[in-house]
Amino acid sequence: MSSARILVADDDETTRLLVHAALAKAGLTVELAADGEQALAAFARTPFDMVMLDVDMPRLNGFAACAALRRQRGEDLPIIMITGMDDIASIEAAFEAGATDFIAKPLPWALLAHRVRYVLRATQAATALRMANARNAAMLDALPDTLLRIDGADHIVELRAAAGTGGHPGAPLVGQPLASAFPAAAGAILAQALDETRRSRRPFTVEFTLGGEGERPLHQEARLSTIDGSEALCLVRDITERKEYESRIHRLAYFDSLTGLANRRGFLERLEREIRRAERNGWRLAVLFLDLDRFKSVNDTLGHEAGDAVLQQAAERLRTIVRPGDIVSRDGGDPGAAEFARLGGDEFTVMLPRIARAEDALPIAERIRACMNAPFMIGSQALGLSTSLGIAIFPDDGGDAATLIKHADTAMYDAKGHGRNACRYYNPTLTAEAVHRVELETGLRRALERDEFVLMYQPQVEVRSGRITTVEALVRWQPPGGALVPPLEFIPFAEECGLIDAIGARVLQHACRDAAAWIARGLDLRVAVNLSSMQFRAQGLLDTVRDALAASGLPAERLELEITESALMDDDDATHATLGALRALGIGIALDDFGTGYSSLSYLKRLPLGKLKIDRSFVNGLPDDADNLAIVRAILALARHLGFQITAEGVETAAQASLLSTLEADSLQGYLFSRPVPAAALEALVRQGCAGDGASAAGTGQRELCTWPARQIGYLTDPDPNPAAAPT
Ligand code: C2E
Ligand code: MG
Ligand code: MG
Repeated sequence: MSSARILVADDDETTRLLVHAALAKAGLTVELAADGEQALAAFARTPFDMVMLDVDMPRLNGFAACAALRRQRGEDLPIIMITGMDDIASIEAAFEAGATDFIAKPLPWALLAHRVRYVLRATQAATALRMANARNAAMLDALPDTLLRIDGADHIVELRAAAGTGGHPGAPLVGQPLASAFPAAAGAILAQALDETRRSRRPFTVEFTLGGEGERPLHQEARLSTIDGSEALCLVRDITERKEYESRIHRLAYFDSLTGLANRRGFLERLEREIRRAERNGWRLAVLFLDLDRFKSVNDTLGHEAGDAVLQQAAERLRTIVRPGDIVSRDGGDPGAAEFARLGGDEFTVMLPRIARAEDALPIAERIRACMNAPFMIGSQALGLSTSLGIAIFPDDGGDAATLIKHADTAMYDAKGHGRNACRYYNPTLTAEAVHRVELETGLRRALERDEFVLMYQPQVEVRSGRITTVEALVRWQPPGGALVPPLEFIPFAEECGLIDAIGARVLQHACRDAAAWIARGLDLRVAVNLSSMQFRAQGLLDTVRDALAASGLPAERLELEITESALMDDDDATHATLGALRALGIGIALDDFGTGYSSLSYLKRLPLGKLKIDRSFVNGLPDDADNLAIVRAILALARHLGFQITAEGVETAAQASLLSTLEADSLQGYLFSRPVPAAALEALVRQGCAGDGASAAGTGQRELCTWPARQIGYLTDPDPNPAAAPT
């Protein structure tokens, strides 16, 4: 400031000289003018930092010169008017003419330089402030943000619309609370951000979305900062374009543009995530790798457009085949949504994020393969292509995404190597097993449709009378042209794949029908039907039983249901209710394979059971096996005490029969008397057994024990072509 240049105009030479001396002494550069015109001319030559003008001057007075300078130089030039003492009118006229300040004569020589410096500094500060304000305003004008200034009570006190926008519906919002200027959800986000900013005294950024349902969402970013802890600024910027751009980039990075499916990178990331989840939860996960057979020739012969059309249709099929809910998880849990991807070319992948067993992937793979076999349409031309699929299972075939994809790929090549149009597991034994399961399931469904189940009947002989009082129905499956399949080879599987209810109902219907026919022909029999524990717990059991009885006309007392201990595991209200309802109908309940399951003796007392069947494994080895003997004795004593009937299963020797009769078992069942026989052979068996008193007493004398070696009852040929399958 010491180098500041001051222009002094006064018509009085003495004054001019004194002012010059006073200011120059303070290090200021001074130029002198004798009147207003000279002053303007001097200023025109070189601008000054400050001008001092005497009021009364010839030619152009101080007021006129001041007004002219103000016009030419604007606000920033400090102009001091030198007025007469107490000349209030001059002072007013000076300010009107645009003076910055005034000094009254006589001039205070000692203080003059200080006064001049002060005015210079004040003017410079004011100029700097004006500049800063102008800069801020220019900046805000250029910013693509809407600015809201908010007072300590969260009300909007100023609003500037974003540059280039039509502007917010600004004015009406001034005076309103910040939150109410936006839709509720956005308002809540902003209010919270405002609190956060005030509390932390730091800028805070939040994002929210505007726009109603069905409208293009407008993404907004709000940056809030506090000015002094209470007043705050909120800059709201529309980031819709950026967001859309980001999502486009994301799509480009993670999705295949031709089919809209995930690309390799997208798939890898998701797969990795699902693997971690499966790992945490102990789940299995399958990766299917599929490749259209001979796709290359489509590209080569029909062109790339045709190839693209095929790929798009293939992707569409994948989307529709494996819809959420289509994958059945055998354990009843949520199987998770399948994910698809196009890895490139004609290679697609499918992830099944949660399967109970490795084999469960094959039916889905087969469904995909079958669906891809449908012709692809290229214009009006139908094009048939087959597909090969490879399956890799986590954790069995690999613990990470890359390995699983690689192994699924290997399996796919294996499928191609085996003639294409096939599905294969990476682990070859799994393929065999899974194929077997798929065939078994298909076979069982067909068996139900075509009624391929046949029943064999095995008699139970009453010890007291030697009569066949009950026959147990044992199911077999007779596939056309195949060998008879024993129950243990398909009943457990039918339980797993949900076919047991239908098969069980069929068995019940046939058994009731057969029994009703025998009774109509004069036989005095009960028929025992095995129930799987799943059937026992199923909703419709009572209806199924009632329907079978009604359809056959079999009296309920002629029906006995054999359940296993596992059916009673949940000793709950539902179990009691089901048993109670069956008993109320008049149906007998036998506990099958007693002693092999979860034998809680307490339920024997509480549940309405009529009969226990001692499992074959305890009868086996009698009479020599001391342990079994002890067990059988104990069971019989217990049963007698609780009032149960006892049937011993698996009686194969006369010695066993003799012992069991001595121990007072009520009835005996086993190969000693008869293997299970076809329905057609049963009547003869019963009549012969009853009539032909070939039953010779082999007991201890007190009781008449009927021992019926197969020879004696005339049933020599084994009707079961698969006797080895009968459990021993
Ligand atoms: P289970 O109910 O304990 O039936 C007795 C099984 O033992 C039958 O085998 C029978 O052939 C066999 N067996 C009978 N006497 C002897 C003997 O003296 N020695 C030997 N070694 N075995 C004998 P099968 O017919 O193979 O049936 C096996 C199991 O399959 C049955 O055991 C039953 O749990 C189940 N099952 C059979 N039919 C059905 C059905 O319709 N529904 C359900 N849910 N399960 C069934
Ligand atoms: Mg049974
Ligand atoms: Mg049994």
